[in-house]
Amino acid sequence: MHLLRIPLYLLLLLSAWCAETQAQEKGLLIVHTNDIHSQIDPLSDDTTDTTGGFLRREAVIDSLRRSGKAILLVDAGDAVQGTPYFTMYHGRADMVLINRLGYDVITPGNHEFDNGTEALAALYRKARPEIVNCNYDVSGTPLDGLFKAGIIKEIGGVKTGILGVGVDLQSMVDAEKIAGIVCRDGIAAALHTADSLRKCGAELIIVLSHMGIEQDTLLARRSKDIDLIVGGHSHTLLTRSLNIAGKDNPVCIVQTGEKGLHLGVVSYDRGRLDGYTIPLTARYDSLASPETKALIDTFRQPLEKTTGTVVGRALHRMKIERPQSALSDFTADVLAAQACKENRRCDFALINMGAIRRDIAQGPITRGDIMACYPFENRICYLTLRGREVRQLFDIIAARGGEGVSREVRLIVSPDKKAKHLTIGGKRVRPWRRYCMATTDFVANGGDGMTPLTRCLQRTDTPFLLRDIIAAAIKDSTEKSGGISVATGERIICE
Ligand SMILES: [Zn+2]
Repeated sequence: MHLLRIPLYLLLLLSAWCAETQAQEKGLLIVHTNDIHSQIDPLSDDTTDTTGGFLRREAVIDSLRRSGKAILLVDAGDAVQGTPYFTMYHGRADMVLINRLGYDVITPGNHEFDNGTEALAALYRKARPEIVNCNYDVSGTPLDGLFKAGIIKEIGGVKTGILGVGVDLQSMVDAEKIAGIVCRDGIAAALHTADSLRKCGAELIIVLSHMGIEQDTLLARRSKDIDLIVGGHSHTLLTRSLNIAGKDNPVCIVQTGEKGLHLGVVSYDRGRLDGYTIPLTARYDSLASPETKALIDTFRQPLEKTTGTVVGRALHRMKIERPQSALSDFTADVLAAQACKENRRCDFALINMGAIRRDIAQGPITRGDIMACYPFENRICYLTLRGREVRQLFDIIAARGGEGVSREVRLIVSPDKKAKHLTIGGKRVRPWRRYCMATTDFVANGGDGMTPLTRCLQRTDTPFLLRDIIAAAIKDSTEKSGGISVATGERIICE
């Protein structure tokens, strides 16, 4: 009643003042994800309670929104690739959910380019969030005009500058998939863009970086404008934010690991940034939205028809880890066996660890498991090369800490990651001898740093997908010996 006697202009002033102090008091929450890799369903993993999934992520974000705080929702790349959802829908399912969750700003990772620029452009034209990247020059490609180097957005009364930066795509993505894109130095481009955003009046500067934690740390040390780096690519889980001394001010670095198992939250309050992660466990299941569940079902049901079929069995857990593991050894052996089936000479086979995305649990193996393990459209490829190149190849494999090699290989890696001793088929590699190998087109193109392979003497590409060859081999072994099994520990030995 007393309020009525207060003149209207005073009331308006009062409410404006209240809104402002409220925004200041409540502050801003930056909610972030990275490397979700199309993990729409919770991960099937019996070793942890934190199995993620889109419904839980949405439930937590919704409850953060209800807290009344201003929220900026961002993703630092590799939102796609890694599950049958991507194999079947090529990112469309992921984009529907990105839009539904109300992301404000996203940046592409390297895997966004897996189906080429045309497909990514089609996907990004459907995106509601702003797409930022400052070091990929996409002019003249189908992506022309879809990226902004950085943007300024007013959130919770804070003028926020957000820019995106990504890893050098050249050795990570097949050349034809990124035709016409020029990748500039990420750190230099990010520093330059941050400077421009500051000059345009941004109070808070956030970088969405798909360069990995090492590059992010270097960027932070050299920066004078950046406040926060939301990272990705290295799949690093930082349960608390890191503080790195920049040129003038501390830079906060956050990252949430992989597959959407955790959600990242950074509070920005009176100039201070503090980040932590929330593990997405089953405790949020009761908060899941039935509408979103129904929406996901429209994507899941057609998938299950194909993915539910049991192909064979694993007699033990088939892991994927460096320097060697059951699953990478098995994969390389299957490649070598495929060459024999086609009556080709094969001295050894090589598969990059990056081609295999997860373990196979003991027990039945479904088509969906195989799609999730081998999500890429990798095709079998045969190469002939000189021993000199083979040695260079194994120097790289040693430096990378191991890759999947077939049973003919013995490699001893010294503590400083050099190839100390190498034999193939029990014999030392002679520089001028010709060697025949089986691998995938991605590796043959020099992917994952395997550049000596681009200097091969001969190359034969086949139409066979790695995933299909593997499925056939699993079926075969299961029929013959009850399942797949590999003894590891002899091919690559790290001293
Ligand atoms: Zn990545």
